[in-house]
Amino acid sequence: MTRKLAAGNWKMNGTRAALEDLNAIIAAHSDPSVDILICPPATLLMQAAALTADKPLDIGAQDCHPAASGAHTGDTSAPMVADAGGTAVIVGHSERRENHNENNTLVQSKAQAAHDAGLIAVICIGETLDEREAGQTLDIIAKQLSGSIPDGATPYNTVIAYEPVWAIGTGKVATLEQIAEVHDFIRKSLIDRFGAAAQDMRILYGGSVKPGNAADIFGVSNVDGALVGGASLKQSDFTPIINALE
Ligand code: PGA
Repeated sequence: MTRKLAAGNWKMNGTRAALEDLNAIIAAHSDPSVDILICPPATLLMQAAALTADKPLDIGAQDCHPAASGAHTGDTSAPMVADAGGTAVIVGHSERRENHNENNTLVQSKAQAAHDAGLIAVICIGETLDEREAGQTLDIIAKQLSGSIPDGATPYNTVIAYEPVWAIGTGKVATLEQIAEVHDFIRKSLIDRFGAAAQDMRILYGGSVKPGNAADIFGVSNVDGALVGGASLKQSDFTPIINALE
């Protein structure tokens, strides 16, 4: 059976004081079949990983460079994330696709770098409001899936996060029908490409997941957890989301 995953994306938020929340998250987590991943900013990665080293909580990065090392000022490589104690990295988040002009080819090479470093790649995809209103959602998702996922993807090294861009940080959550349509489509596409094993590749929903809507979203078919932004910044918001998955 697929292990559920509650992932928190702190984005560009948090200083060392925020790490205190990790203990409360661990304390609230009771079901060992649910995985928890927190992706703090790069400055906190190593300390977060050290604090949680023997605990049921994994630490990941929010991005990585496709190269292992080199003259890339300001970037972090996947082997560096692994060396810091991270086990996963988010790639292709819509904020990076938009603010840093990341396209599917680049996202795929970042995911490949993550795999090469032994990390789980959390590959984000999702349509904009204009694309949804133009009826292009499934076409966009299909292109992002085929363009962003490396050939060597398995349920062990890859998680897909469906995050409609218009639902991120807006409080506008997709309807359960919209989530079901896209998640079912993603599952079918993954099985078409990677075979029956892709039944176990986790597909997260992301976009304004809150304590009040998490249980309903987790009841939708092919939703294996959530990628949570705003509500992961306060453990009192994030822990009920974990508990809804348990
Ligand atoms: P949100 O962000 O939960 O604040 O909408 C989700 C994300 O960007 O991963």
